[in-house]
Amino acid sequence: MEITLKRLALDFMTMLFPTVCGLCGKAITPFESFLCSPCLIQLPRERNYRGIENDTCTRLRGMFPFSEAYSYLRFSKKGQVQKLIHKLKYNRQPKLAFQLGVWFTSEVLFLHQDKFDTIVPVPLHPDKLYTRGYNQSFEIATGVSHVTGHPVVEALERIHKSETQTHLSRWDRFENTSNEFCIAKPDEIRGKSILLIDDIITTGATMSGSASPLIANGASRIIVAAIGLAQKA
Ligand SMILES: [Zn+2]
Repeated sequence: MEITLKRLALDFMTMLFPTVCGLCGKAITPFESFLCSPCLIQLPRERNYRGIENDTCTRLRGMFPFSEAYSYLRFSKKGQVQKLIHKLKYNRQPKLAFQLGVWFTSEVLFLHQDKFDTIVPVPLHPDKLYTRGYNQSFEIATGVSHVTGHPVVEALERIHKSETQTHLSRWDRFENTSNEFCIAKPDEIRGKSILLIDDIITTGATMSGSASPLIANGASRIIVAAIGLAQKA
C-alpha cells in the first residue's frame, strides 16, 4: 500500500516536473526544465521576434489599436511548437505554460518590460476552465510576472462559448469573437499599460475581442504577446 502511494506521489511529481525532455525524450539535468538545452535552443523562434516590426504586428494591424505585438515561436502544423502547446493544453501541464512564459520573457519581453505595468491573460470560458482545470494563458502570464514583477490581473471574462471556428472564414471568426469578452475588473484597468497574453495567435480575432473591452474601459496602452504565431499554410 505504502509503495503504491509512493509510486503515485512520484508519478505526480514527474507529471509536474518531468525528468525527461518533452520533445526528444532524453534525460534532463536538474538545471533544465521540461526541455533539454539542445531542444530549447532549436525551437523555431519567430522572425525578428525581439524587434518591434515583426509578423505578429503585420497579422494584427488594422484589427484593433495596439502599440506593439510579440510572438515567441513559429507555430506550424505538426511542428515541435505544436507538440509543446498540445502538451500544455491537453496533458495537464500548467507548469510547462509557466516555463514558456519565463523563456519568452527572458528572451523577448524583458527588453520591453518598462512599457507595460499590468499583465492580463486571455480568459477561457468557465466550462472549458472546469474541464481543463487551468487556463494556460494565465499560467503563461504568471511566468511573465515571475521575471518582470508586474502583477497578473484577471480583468476579463469570457461570456459566449466559442464554437469550433475552423470552418469559419477570417471575418466570420472576427464576428464570432467580437462580443465574447467583457470586463470583470474595470478599476484595475483604467489608465494601465496592459500586456495582453495568449498561447497562440491565428487570425487575431481572439486578441481583438479581448482588447476591445480593455480599450473601452480606459486602458492607456495595449501590448500583445503570444507564445506562438500560427504560420499560414
Ligand atoms: Zn530534447
